[in-house]
Amino acid sequence: MIRVENYIGGKHVSLQETLDDISPLDSAIIATIPRTRNVDDAVQCAIDSQKEWGSLSIDQRADWLDRIADVLQKNIEDIAKLESMDTGKPYEVARNVDAERSVNNFRFFADFGRGMTDETFEMKDAMNYVIRKPIGVVGLISPWNLPLYLLTWKIAPALLMGNSIIAKPSEITPLTAHHFSKLLDEIDFPKGVVNIVHGYGPEVGQAIVEHPDIKAISFTGGTMTGRIVASTAAPMFKKLSLELGGKNSTIVLDDADFESAVPGVARSGFLNSGQICLCGSRILIHESIYDKFVPLLLEEVSNMDIGPVISEEHRTKVLSYIELAKQEGGQILLGGKIIDKPGAWIEPTVIAGLPTNSRTSTEEIFGPVVTLHSFSSDDEAIEIANSTEYGLAGSVWSKKRGRQIAERIESGMVWVNTWLHRDLRVPFGGVKNSGVGREGGMWSLGFFSEAINICVMEP
Ligand code: NAD
Repeated sequence: MIRVENYIGGKHVSLQETLDDISPLDSAIIATIPRTRNVDDAVQCAIDSQKEWGSLSIDQRADWLDRIADVLQKNIEDIAKLESMDTGKPYEVARNVDAERSVNNFRFFADFGRGMTDETFEMKDAMNYVIRKPIGVVGLISPWNLPLYLLTWKIAPALLMGNSIIAKPSEITPLTAHHFSKLLDEIDFPKGVVNIVHGYGPEVGQAIVEHPDIKAISFTGGTMTGRIVASTAAPMFKKLSLELGGKNSTIVLDDADFESAVPGVARSGFLNSGQICLCGSRILIHESIYDKFVPLLLEEVSNMDIGPVISEEHRTKVLSYIELAKQEGGQILLGGKIIDKPGAWIEPTVIAGLPTNSRTSTEEIFGPVVTLHSFSSDDEAIEIANSTEYGLAGSVWSKKRGRQIAERIESGMVWVNTWLHRDLRVPFGGVKNSGVGREGGMWSLGFFSEAINICVMEP
């Protein structure tokens, strides 16, 4: 049994009141975590440490990011094991997706920071230059699906730009953030710059969002929660970044290359048990290839190594959508049932025959459930793809027309003949109800700093 503790001012602190952390692999209690309700101490430590941290040069802070990357790399197997135990995802996914990317987040932003160039704007009679100041103390709130991966995606750029941090991982998956705080101790990272607090979202998360000394909130999570966060933070004029839910379309055109499309479409639907905001869970297939494509897709999905969903509670939600799909006229082509063993296991599920505007095919399920739809023209595919309230991501599979379709999809990111192929310099984020703002490269650095323009005229 692991005892997760808060990390405040460089000290590990436990609380009397705790929550249980349950593994979805077998429903065993694997850890206790502090039920934090107040972040005043953490914020004070962050304020006290920020001045010195913010006064380091960007290269000095980049060196610290590299040291963090080094210690994460050294402990990558432990991180993958903890992540796998906490989320239920197969070890390989935890190792090659989560742990690997957590290291890369620090490595990437260290390099990116060193490569930053001056932003200057010449006028005929004057010169402007932009300096980027730290915001001060920033709040980082992340979900359970890619725990350390998504938290470090915020921590690395926030640190690089000279901020101190109050970070809150999901209460469902606290283990790797706790391990991370121990590794910061190991490398003597400046105390108080990174503070990690654990507990329920509406308690400690809300306390972060409403704290007057936390000047920016970077939030990744569900759209409903994002709305609550925005309603608190916006009237306080906090900087706000919201990475929210999605219901992404995968479009398979009549000229798709089956050899890459079949595994690609299956992976985009079911990687991490469909619990990635970018997963393509509405699969639109051109009518001329539908009958040939679908059996190949079902076979591919049947052969995938898929873990449980995050919790029994979440499985109940996923199952309720499968029941709803039946009422809405859907036919279950694959799966549809729970797997009868301890934990939160459920069969990967493929549903056909639903109207494209049905609830099952337009609401975010966030589990191993996809719906299949056929279309007869490019225009129809685009109309279906754009008909949800979300606009996060999508993919198009076509030998010739991918780009022209991609540019007409209303979402922040579209992949053509690939999926989740990430370059960390590019903008990441959604439109419509999928969020506000962008992360990645300069977008993250812009968010985590105040751009100040100095206009100089020679006397
Ligand atoms: P969630 O919204 O329930 O929780 C996210 C985080 O917010 C957790 O740490 C939670 O404790 C905290 N929280 C909850 N209530 C809060 C409040 N009132 N104030 C402050 N914080 C609060 O989301 P989840 O179930 O953990 O994650 C799944 C969701 O996240 C899905 O909708 C998924 O699409 C989305 N997501 C989006 C992205 C993206 O980049 N757009 C990435 C991953 C996941």
